[in-house]
Amino acid sequence: MKRILVTGGAGFIGSHLCEKLVSQGHDVICLDNYFTGSKLNISHLMDNHYFEVVRHDVTHPYFAEVDEIYNLACPASPIHYQYNPIKTIKTSVMGAINMLGLAKRIKAKILQASTSEVYGDPLEHPQTENYWGNVNPIGIRSCYDEGKRCAESLFMNYHRQNNVRIKIVRIFNTYGPRMNQNDGRVVSNFIVQALKNEPITIFGDGNQTRSFQYIDDLIEGMLRMMNSRDGFYGPVNIGNPHEFSMLNLANEIIDLTGSGSKIIYKPLPEDDPTQRQPDITLAKKELNNWEPKIELREGLKKTIEYFDNLLTT
Ligand code: NAD
Ligand code: UDP
Repeated sequence: MKRILVTGGAGFIGSHLCEKLVSQGHDVICLDNYFTGSKLNISHLMDNHYFEVVRHDVTHPYFAEVDEIYNLACPASPIHYQYNPIKTIKTSVMGAINMLGLAKRIKAKILQASTSEVYGDPLEHPQTENYWGNVNPIGIRSCYDEGKRCAESLFMNYHRQNNVRIKIVRIFNTYGPRMNQNDGRVVSNFIVQALKNEPITIFGDGNQTRSFQYIDDLIEGMLRMMNSRDGFYGPVNIGNPHEFSMLNLANEIIDLTGSGSKIIYKPLPEDDPTQRQPDITLAKKELNNWEPKIELREGLKKTIEYFDNLLTT
């Protein structure tokens, strides 16, 4: 049994991670300020004696004796991270400094939830970890992209300067139950719109692409990364290489829900990446042949079931 701290533990990904770690018998502290997360996401874990919740903001120092830290605290959807962009940068940068400082003091291993957004609107396709990215440093997405890039730099520097044991994963678009239905991400938006028979809002012409990974595949990848060999720090891409256009996604969701929704077109947000697909060669090599197992249609069915229950209860 390990003592494990999960920052952002009440969010979409964090709650699934806490659930998995608790089920493996670990002693888990879930730290969150509930900006985008919710107690409902973790309510089913509250009765477990090895699960503890702390209301705390990672921009302030925190101390606990743990063996491992997963640093996930940060709003992840464009609507939420652009709501207070200065706070988003502080969360990524000061959150990383505070958690790395803690890891250094208590000699814990620490994993950073980085993002495919570090590649920006990529000029190389698919993206390997060696690609340095194409990010607009002053655009409206930069509070998130540059915050995450700075956090990666901090992780590498704490490692080089202070021998902190780090792991960095670059997560590609992930979906599944417990996504926040109001956070504007494409999968939750389209599913909720389809279930309510409301128009499906495609931004731009719908030919932009993303590669969607189901939550369970991501959690498995994160656990394997935390437990990967000493000397492997990443960054490593964790995502599903199967790429879909937003039009494909809308049609798939209309088909699966049997919805009568029509597609409508809205302006493309500023700096919206045109394409994104992970090269997962490194993950396969270093993470014991890790690769996604759940294809889009199967994962969408589970996610639709979740939102259907949520909307009808
Ligand atoms: P989420 O918004 O559901 O979860 C983020 C959690 O962090 C929330 O519970 C929120 O309340 C908490 N939080 C935010 N600011 C905080 C602060 N200052 N102090 C303490 N807690 C704070 O998002 P998610 O999709 O679960 O993303 C989790 C992590 O994974 C994020 O770091 C995100 O950047 C990264 N990521 C997610 C995706 C994705 O597709 N979901 C892709 C790439 C990277
Ligand atoms: N998108 C869309 N309709 C929506 C929400 C999003 O067409 O209702 C598009 C968005 O412009 C982007 C893609 O879907 O091209 C993925 O958006 P999301 O916010 O989920 O993720 P990110 O852009 O951060 O990869």
